[in-house]
Amino acid sequence: MAGVEPEAWTKEVEDARTALRTRFPDLHCLRCGADNFFFRLWPDESLVPGLASESDNRVVELICRRCGFQEKHVVRLLAAASD
Ligand SMILES: [Zn+2]
Repeated sequence: MAGVEPEAWTKEVEDARTALRTRFPDLHCLRCGADNFFFRLWPDESLVPGLASESDNRVVELICRRCGFQEKHVVRLLAAASD
């Protein structure tokens, strides 16, 4: 199974960020209300070699910088047109 090229990965990260901002323009932590997050897209090659090419499985993870609460969204659904 082929890996993901760095350029393609960067684009995926940017697309996921855009999808988050579009769906949740005023994003705050569900626990403490902070608006400052760590942002991670996974699985990536460091976690599961090979699986990063399975873009249908991609999950974007937000970690609140204040309280550490984790929130995850399946990117494929996040980016889909809302109904
Ligand atoms: Zn928080």
